Amino acid sequence: MLRELREIVQRVTASSDLNEAMAELAQQTRQAMLVDCCSIYLRRDDEPGFLLAATDGLAPEAVGRARIPLGEGIVGLIGEKEELINLADAQHHPSFKYLPEAHEDEFRSFLGAPIIHQRKTLGVLVVQQKQVRLFEEGEESFLVTLAAQLATVIAHAEARGNLKSRNWHGMLRGLAGSPGVAIGKAWVWRPKVELDRVRARRADDLPVQHRRLDKVLHQVEEELDGMALRFKESQAGESMAVFEVYQYILKDPVFIGLIREEIEHGWTAGSAVKRVCEKQIAQFANMADPYLRERAADIRDLGQRLLTRLIHEDDGPLALSEPIILVADEISATLIAEIPRSKLMAIVSAKGSINSHAAILARAMGIPAVMGIDHSFELLEERQLVVDGYTGELLVEPAPSVLKEYRRVIVEEAQMDELFATVRQEASRTLDDVPVSLLLNAGLSADADIAMNDAADGVGLFRTEIPFMMRDRFPSEQEQVHSYRRVLTSYVGKPVCMRTLDVGGDKQLPYFPIVEENPFLGWRGIRLTLDHPEIFLVQLKAMLRASIGLDNLSIMLPMVGSLDEVRVARRLLDRAWREVSAETADEQGIIRYPSLGVMIEVPSLLYQLAELAPLVDFWSVGTNDLTQYLLAVDRNNGRVADIYDSLHPAVLRALQQIIDAARQHARPVSICGELAGDPIGVLVLMAMGYRRFSMNNSNIMRIKYIVRQSRTDELKKLLQEALSHQHVGAFKGIFGRYLEERGLGGLLRAGL
Ligand code: PEP
Ligand code: MG
Repeated sequence: MLRELREIVQRVTASSDLNEAMAELAQQTRQAMLVDCCSIYLRRDDEPGFLLAATDGLAPEAVGRARIPLGEGIVGLIGEKEELINLADAQHHPSFKYLPEAHEDEFRSFLGAPIIHQRKTLGVLVVQQKQVRLFEEGEESFLVTLAAQLATVIAHAEARGNLKSRNWHGMLRGLAGSPGVAIGKAWVWRPKVELDRVRARRADDLPVQHRRLDKVLHQVEEELDGMALRFKESQAGESMAVFEVYQYILKDPVFIGLIREEIEHGWTAGSAVKRVCEKQIAQFANMADPYLRERAADIRDLGQRLLTRLIHEDDGPLALSEPIILVADEISATLIAEIPRSKLMAIVSAKGSINSHAAILARAMGIPAVMGIDHSFELLEERQLVVDGYTGELLVEPAPSVLKEYRRVIVEEAQMDELFATVRQEASRTLDDVPVSLLLNAGLSADADIAMNDAADGVGLFRTEIPFMMRDRFPSEQEQVHSYRRVLTSYVGKPVCMRTLDVGGDKQLPYFPIVEENPFLGWRGIRLTLDHPEIFLVQLKAMLRASIGLDNLSIMLPMVGSLDEVRVARRLLDRAWREVSAETADEQGIIRYPSLGVMIEVPSLLYQLAELAPLVDFWSVGTNDLTQYLLAVDRNNGRVADIYDSLHPAVLRALQQIIDAARQHARPVSICGELAGDPIGVLVLMAMGYRRFSMNNSNIMRIKYIVRQSRTDELKKLLQEALSHQHVGAFKGIFGRYLEERGLGGLLRAGL
């Protein structure tokens, strides 16, 4: 049966029209299960009850007409109870409802399974037979499996079909790429030149083709320089790193060399660009790491940009008369850069995820973004949209009452941003005068972060994996020294905590692939670096060299699960320090031995804190991984996102235990997971006694504002009260009210 099941699902998935797909499904299922009838009833948001959407066995004219009200008939009952019903003789069931237009008199046995997508019942799949008999267990599981697989197909097909209708209005769900809300008209962008539509052509004028390539390379380089400059000036500093990646590709001798080689083989400049880009895109697209997979989009964008210049010699800038919501199949960083900031209200991209450069840029620029809405947007042009970057929802032509609500949110947000900006230069202290340190989580472009956030007290977590990921080999010691030095000198006089390489899990290096069944429980972080002391030592030495004369470096180890890992890491640090000190003592002065700390993110450490304390100088809690490992919930899996909760009672207990142990053993402790930048999270953590938080730069100001509005004595009492509630909702509600009483209720939208 597995083969039949797969075939049915494949055929339905391939169908471009929902009605056709349903008809096909009914027919195929009837044949595969050897039954007399198969029907699909679907529920539509705007209509009551279940409508017969397709059938092979009932009267065809009833399709689109026969309707069963909710809670009525056996189909209605399945919808209500959300479970399978198997009846030897349906006509004797008390809920049986005769549908005259469907002519189902002759059918007696009945097997129906609900079609459920993301906890919502989309419809009911039914098979019937003339014979009175109970369906067998194997038939039951076939139908349930088919219904479960079809739920996704129907949900997607429905949304796709919906978008084909000009008057459709409703909601599409994607990923929350950048927070904020925008209301505006859709402006659907299509590339002038699409890589895959360009036909490769031969040429016999080699020197001309090389010259054409030189010219466009130069043009595009200048354009990118211009864009980078604009971003620098507009303070969206983090985004500079995005353009650095583009410049890097464009100047990469291997990349350009490959294009030249194709020209030498007799292709036109355009064809050479197309052929090389397509090969590289295919390579990136097959990579396991989501960050690197996204780089395929960068190559496509650059390729299309070069081709556009080659084909339309003088392509002017985009002219827009009013602010728009940019909607496209794939939005690149350069496309965003081409639209003046004042004209860009939000972005919506069919492809891409929260790791896409478009999303990174949008966050840096404060533009709401929804990514990964897997649809074709042709008919959205000019239609009114609401982009909700907190929830990842896109509303098309919403009702006036919904619009009014969103307008209120926008006004409130603007007011809050103004309010938060007022505390930029103020001290980070609570109302009862308790100092609270606010630090940055950096990694993408730390020196730009500080320019934006002079309000921060330093860097609490510098993730070093990005510079490793951007290359095609391990960076040399000198390259690392250069990049770490830039960070340390940007924060002179302020502490910088650098984390040693944390690859593995979902962070892969293209030149060092790790293939594992269970990567999050595998060779990751310190486990990998201790197995490769040559890599670890180079990184430690680079950090030490970079810190000469600066005195602000501390080093942190990720994914530590046992004390031996710390002992071995300490020995290697001792060795690195001795060697670097000996080499540099004469000419460059003394290197201070840095403090060494660990991330607390593997639950086994919770039971070894007393023994850990004498081995390290500090610890920092990585709530992202601690939550994932304590709750056994993958932090990247959308299906279980609902149960990934850093305020789960078990996580709360762990957090309390960590701060208590830190006090008892006099070890400084901070929080560097996402919880630190979360309005409710920071209140709970302050109530527990935490005073040091590290977060993304976009959160610093609002968290500082919250800190300045709070009293630790009140928060402590609140925590006692909240902990007496077993329900997580009630727990959050208590702290939510505390924010509301301070006029900060609007912050609760942000994913809480
Ligand atoms: C964490 O796990 O909470 C953390 C800060 O590290 P990362 O998100 O890089 O794993
Ligand atoms: Mg982590």
